[in-house]
Amino acid sequence: MALSTIVSNTANLQKYLDLPQGGKVIAEYVWIDGSNGLRSKSRTLSKKVTAVSELPEWNFDGSSTGQAPGNNSDVYLRPCAFYPDPFRRGDNILVMCETWGGQGKPNAYNFRHDADLVMKEHAAHEFWFGLEQEYTLLDFSGWPYGWPKDGFPAPQGPYYCGVGTGKVFCRDIVEAHYKACLAANINISGTNAEVMPAQWEYQVGPCEGIDLGDQLWMSRFILHRVAEEFGAKVTFAPKPIPGDWNGAGLHTNVSTKETREDGGMKAIEAFMDKLSKRQKEHMAVYGSDNHLRMTGLHETSSIDKFSWGVANRGSSVRIPRSVAQEGKGYFEDRRPASNGDPYQITGIMVETLCGKVEG
Ligand code: ADP
Ligand code: MN
Ligand code: MN
Ligand code: MN
Ligand code: MN
Repeated sequence: MALSTIVSNTANLQKYLDLPQGGKVIAEYVWIDGSNGLRSKSRTLSKKVTAVSELPEWNFDGSSTGQAPGNNSDVYLRPCAFYPDPFRRGDNILVMCETWGGQGKPNAYNFRHDADLVMKEHAAHEFWFGLEQEYTLLDFSGWPYGWPKDGFPAPQGPYYCGVGTGKVFCRDIVEAHYKACLAANINISGTNAEVMPAQWEYQVGPCEGIDLGDQLWMSRFILHRVAEEFGAKVTFAPKPIPGDWNGAGLHTNVSTKETREDGGMKAIEAFMDKLSKRQKEHMAVYGSDNHLRMTGLHETSSIDKFSWGVANRGSSVRIPRSVAQEGKGYFEDRRPASNGDPYQITGIMVETLCGKVEG
């Protein structure tokens, strides 16, 4: 077990969680801060919520989150989606919010707003996204959970989808997160242990349009929140350990009404042509420190040059073999880093494939 200096006693908490709330509901407002992290705060509502429109706008001190200057620090929270709260349970909810400035303009770190505009414009194409979120669990000191204190585990090989002591680390956190996501109505589609020990993956999707970004961000919040109870840290760094240890990505699976129809392979090929002309623009919003991960080794492609291929895990985009055989389906963009913002990733995808919208 890793040493965390302070672990709160969640067993003691249980009896308070069961106390009645007098008909009131607790809403946990969640937002994205100025450094790609998550923040949240709670408020009491007078009754059960049945639609986003019933949720009041709120605000916070943006100077404390790197999102606004001290002399103009109010940032507004506009609810955009809500989920059953798997921690407080009952009618309590988690609320995903956009951040807005005082002048009715989106905050500089509100990437959802533009993505939502372009997706609404091209809604007829019925974009579906499924993202594979890789991440690494660290102990309190910041070293991968379960690794020897001042050293390294045996080389990669037995860990990917592994089972058994010494091959998997922190399955308890992964299980807790999986169940908590299902309880929160997150469309989590699976999970697996990764190539590097203490590295894991889960998938969210397919979700239509902006819903993917909302659900993936909320699944990250739930992951941080669960790991907190186990005294573990979550890192989405794309190359947490240098050297011969796999990096972490956010493979982005994409389809449209056209690619899912019979003969959809034609539409996929036309999309590949469009993607090949926008390598730089995509890489710019596919996460930070991605150059450390995209070395061309460890199942990654060149960071400068777009490529695609059937069943090829060394290309920018992989067409699953089953898709090529059926002649329809989806493609997998393997370039995004694990710390990429799903709003920006899915937003630029729609923009490149269907055309820009002025916001
Ligand atoms: P990999 O073989 O690359 O590890 P995974 O099984 O981890 O693939 O993830 C595949 C992802 O593709 C899942 O998140 C799933 O929801 C998504 N997906 C499946 N079908 C579609 C589709 N038609 N459109 C978009 N995403 C899809
Ligand atoms: Mn205060
Ligand atoms: Mn996967
Ligand atoms: Mn993976
Ligand atoms: Mn993949």
